[in-house]
Amino acid sequence: MLTVNAYAATSATEPLAPTTIERRDVGPHDVLIEIKYTGICHSDIHHVRGEWGPADYPVAPGHEIAGIVVEVGSEVTKHAVGDRVGVGCMVDSCGECVNCRKGEEQYCLAGNTGTYGSVDADGNPTQGGYSTHIVVTEDFVLKIPQGIELDAAAPLLCAGITTYSPLSHWGAGPGKKVAVVGLGGLGHMAVKLAHAMGAEVTVLSQSLKKQDDGLRLGADHYYATSDPETFDKLAGSFDLIVNTVSAKIDLDAYLSLLAVDGALVNVGAPPEPLSVNAFSLIGGRRSFAGSLIGGIRETQEMLDFCAEHHLGAEIEVIPADKINEAYERVLASDVRYRFVIDISTLS
Ligand code: NAP
Ligand code: ZN
Repeated sequence: MLTVNAYAATSATEPLAPTTIERRDVGPHDVLIEIKYTGICHSDIHHVRGEWGPADYPVAPGHEIAGIVVEVGSEVTKHAVGDRVGVGCMVDSCGECVNCRKGEEQYCLAGNTGTYGSVDADGNPTQGGYSTHIVVTEDFVLKIPQGIELDAAAPLLCAGITTYSPLSHWGAGPGKKVAVVGLGGLGHMAVKLAHAMGAEVTVLSQSLKKQDDGLRLGADHYYATSDPETFDKLAGSFDLIVNTVSAKIDLDAYLSLLAVDGALVNVGAPPEPLSVNAFSLIGGRRSFAGSLIGGIRETQEMLDFCAEHHLGAEIEVIPADKINEAYERVLASDVRYRFVIDISTLS
């Protein structure tokens, strides 16, 4: 066992605080990673505050992990000491079900093992990347290509893949009109990725405060959803809408913006149920769908795509003692566009 420094939540209401956690010994198929940077995802906040259901405490969150391999097990073939690597939202899955065999481990029928808040094969709770080291089975470790700095790469492991996967699945590309709802961590990556895929990109944000940034990140158009005229003007115009909002929104209003056969894909995971009027779908043969992160193979594909297109996340690097403050800023939509923890401040 390895005892390492971490930052963890001890209850749904207390601020996160410094602590130590245990990492398992490096097994034959394991990789020990010295974590350099970890992104703060809004899911970390939903989870530690018990918004998706009760959590087990203490929990060190963090599933946007970038670091360096410092030790490998005797049977490891994919990674070597010194490699630049990443870990996203999953650290294991059954490997045998139909979805795992297709490389869509996120939809493992036995349930994938989350990077934190799950139970590992050895029966211990998993703990995430707000910590100095992590031990992960080699199949769930990604390679971070040269050309992307580790700090800007960390958010790709969740925000990047969560938006890349639906953009790719629903065919974002030349000739396609794609709207992104919410310009936060996921939203800003959706804009960069959809633009790089060749789509015409529109941001639908609550206000015009971040318009200059949105256009700089690759959006062609930018509208405020607080302005009711936005919904009249854009009615029936998009092939794909990716909703990244962490709260409940009026889905019927957004569905009215889809062209015939268009799809509104929810990646935002608000705690409250969302409601849909059937007529919003019937009226234009429209679809309402969801999407969960992406599989390991697709995550590597996304990282390679980002390297090829010189894409990383727009980040604000913070020391660990600013995590609680960063949470409040994320909740106030005051993030530009991902907080990333400098893990050296934990050691
Ligand atoms: P984030 O950085 O907080 O971004 C969310 C954005 O939504 C905000 O920046 C804001 O953008 C907009 N927003 C927030 N509250 C709103 C409200 N009440 N009404 C309208 N718009 C609002 O969060 P994130 O890290 O990108 O995560 C977004 C959501 O995706 C979370 O629910 C998270 O749990 C979920 N998630 C899902 C997956 C998956 O696999 N499906 C993976 C990761 C995260 P504007 O200021 O531009 O309006
Ligand atoms: Zn996440």
